[in-house]
Amino acid sequence: MRKYGKIIAIITTVLCFLGIVPLVQAQEQTQPMENQQVQQEQENTTYIPVLMYHNFWNEQYPLPTKEELGIPGYDPQTAPANLYAGKFEQQMQWLYENGWQTITLDEFYEWVQGKRVVSPKSFVITIDDGYKSVYTVAYPILKKYNYKATVFVVTSYMVDPNKKANFPHMTAQEMAKASDVFTYGSHTHDLHMVKNGKSLLFYTHPSVIKQDIEKSRNLLYTEYFAYPYGGYDGDIENIVREAGYKMAFTTGDRYAYVNQDIYAIRRFDITAQMSMDEFITIMEGKAQKNLKPIFSPFSFRVTTL
Ligand SMILES: [Zn+2]
Repeated sequence: MRKYGKIIAIITTVLCFLGIVPLVQAQEQTQPMENQQVQQEQENTTYIPVLMYHNFWNEQYPLPTKEELGIPGYDPQTAPANLYAGKFEQQMQWLYENGWQTITLDEFYEWVQGKRVVSPKSFVITIDDGYKSVYTVAYPILKKYNYKATVFVVTSYMVDPNKKANFPHMTAQEMAKASDVFTYGSHTHDLHMVKNGKSLLFYTHPSVIKQDIEKSRNLLYTEYFAYPYGGYDGDIENIVREAGYKMAFTTGDRYAYVNQDIYAIRRFDITAQMSMDEFITIMEGKAQKNLKPIFSPFSFRVTTL
């Protein structure tokens, strides 16, 4: 046994020398409350920016032209949801170089409830709709910086890759391959649509919504949900809860706080037009005072496809 102890000591020394031990420490930035006796001096963050992305493109995977896509009044080249990879990489590089670290939705869920201490400079990445560009463009960039993200998937596209869509979606195989970086949440099974400028959920019978989102939850084995277009009200929130989800995300460009409504986590929409200065303002906790006062949570406008 002494021999093994000596070997472990040598391995640890080598790891220290290689700088691997600090990496391990960095991964242990979040601590369950029961460990707080030994971590008393650790600072808990007062806010967390939850970032929301949609679609990505680069030279290898370009966007279709307005004419190719053929949606009246919609130009994919200038749409806020279609972010250039170089800009995304610039954001991730800034975060990495400034010591920011992603936390998972499981960790975030505990933090919101006051059950976990999370160090400052923690943030959450979410990506809505489950487009193929998440796999082809965003995945290698996130992997490079060892960042984790949650993709909110419209599962009917995952089940049927031939289903007609404005942009191609990730296949189940691609989702599985990228599961070292991504966890998956639900964005409905087949109710991600707009009616009269609002989410279709506002016009759908509660039993139909419940059936749809239960199906999606069972396909993904998830407990996390993102409202399509951020649109929800008290009734929709109740259906999401009854369907077995324990946390839900909306839009609204605001920070998440401890003890806030767990079914109305707001996110910052990171658009194609956003400058690096604006992005840094969000990360540094200074974005909210520049925004308009809280508007009715039930009156979200559709801003993305
Ligand atoms: Zn969406």
